[in-house]
Amino acid sequence: MIVVLLGPPGAGKGTQGERIADALGIPKIATGDVLRAAVKAGTELGLAAKGFMDRGDLVPDEVILGIMREALAQPEQAKGVILDGVVRTVPQAEGLAAVVRALGRTLDMVLVFDIADDLLVDRLSGRTTCDTCQKPFTGLRPGAPCPDGTGGTLVRRKDDEPEAIRNRLRVYHAQTAPVLQWYVEHGANVQRIDAVGSFDEVTARALAAVRR
Ligand code: AMP
Repeated sequence: MIVVLLGPPGAGKGTQGERIADALGIPKIATGDVLRAAVKAGTELGLAAKGFMDRGDLVPDEVILGIMREALAQPEQAKGVILDGVVRTVPQAEGLAAVVRALGRTLDMVLVFDIADDLLVDRLSGRTTCDTCQKPFTGLRPGAPCPDGTGGTLVRRKDDEPEAIRNRLRVYHAQTAPVLQWYVEHGANVQRIDAVGSFDEVTARALAAVRR
């Protein structure tokens, strides 16, 4: 089962994607996580991506499609995969469709997280992220140890600063919102869920949608 999670930054795709992946027993790929790990490791990919990411701009489509081509060919994705934040432009949707087709697979569902912008600014500016496991936390200060005991430290992502958040929302509405229209026009199985509520409430809605 291949599921694309679509929604604005801060909608909960990362946390919920993890929970859906665990419930279905399949892996999750988040291009944001792949890119942050590359930045941390100082690889060529990381160096190329860092400036775009710090500003809240999108990394070029070809870079993303290169990551996806490699990731989807791995044997552990054979049973299925949850794709979190992977499709952010129409050319990426087209490119992913071609990669999936070339592998003889199908994209089973596009799960859309609905939430208003006002809530997102509050959520993102109050969030810290573990520099090791990349899990986001709310209500915890930068510098605190990761509550999951990974040995990592909580940091404020550069793109969770107010100016970058505003830019990420602008970029979402200009470049990613049309992706939803593209999927509808191409007959994808699009399911929408209300992303406002407790973690458990949203997980229940997401799981009900993927099991539908
Ligand atoms: P995320 O963790 O999903 O919020 O992604 C963090 C940043 O990584 C984004 O603001 C972009 O700069 C970059 N990024 C992640 N995924 C993509 C993608 N599919 N297309 C372009 N840029 C991406």
